[in-house]
Amino acid sequence: MSKLTVTNHNRNVTNLTYIYPVLSRRAGGLSIGINFNTNNACNWRCIYCQVPDLKLGAAPEIDLNLLAKELRLFLDDVLHGDFYDQMEVPEEQRVIKDIAIAGNGEPTSLANFDQAIQIIGDIANENGIFPKSHFVLITNGSLIHRKTVQKGLTILANFGGEIWFKMDSATNEGRGFVNNSAQTNEAILKNITLTSKICETKIQICLVDYQQRGFLESEKAGFLTFLAEIRTKTAIKNVTIYTLARPSHQPEAIDLKPMASEIMQNFALEIQELGFDAQAIA
Ligand code: SF4
Repeated sequence: MSKLTVTNHNRNVTNLTYIYPVLSRRAGGLSIGINFNTNNACNWRCIYCQVPDLKLGAAPEIDLNLLAKELRLFLDDVLHGDFYDQMEVPEEQRVIKDIAIAGNGEPTSLANFDQAIQIIGDIANENGIFPKSHFVLITNGSLIHRKTVQKGLTILANFGGEIWFKMDSATNEGRGFVNNSAQTNEAILKNITLTSKICETKIQICLVDYQQRGFLESEKAGFLTFLAEIRTKTAIKNVTIYTLARPSHQPEAIDLKPMASEIMQNFALEIQELGFDAQAIA
């Protein structure tokens, strides 16, 4: 069995500070993860979060030289070395699907986020990674108002990148519970509109079944109303619904189960009726 599996997202597998490889079920190959939040700090606390010892805060100061060195080393090992053999990766999965900025916390909380994106994109280009592989930023979208973040998104767009914008609820109550975030729909609409003007943006909805309550009607109704508004006000076309793939490291873990596949599939169909390309990944 491969040492890298879809459930093994161990960020220490290569003993690097900022880079971690993931065999991604969603991407269907190797995803090169980049983690700016080496302190496991995030400005949200999602009840399904898999980050161990998650704490409230921002990414620490980054060593950009080390980031560059590690990415060059890692890409060299994957492209010209024996990385796949060492990790016993199956032949059909020996393809770099994406470089994904998705750390143990909110990546856009990095102070010099823009510089880091530039460095990653430049090194990926030097190695001929784009456009065959995607350049993805996974974000909760709450810090888009910052100038350095907007600059970083512009750089991401220049490399042909895309943003996966987390949206786990469209009600203030739901968001307060699932994400422990006080963001309002108004703030999210403003942020996602801005984001989608700068760079291609896709919506990511994580649905979890808390205490076997399933998908609350109020939550579904909130989503459909809000997504309809987003559809008319932005150029966003793509929505992905997913659920728990690995155990949460939060106190709520014991009460969490993956959302039933049928519920997710039906929800995807309703989102499609709003004019989105929507898919559910069970
Ligand atoms: S936004 Fe991401 S890293 Fe932050 S708490 Fe939620 S799942 Fe965890």
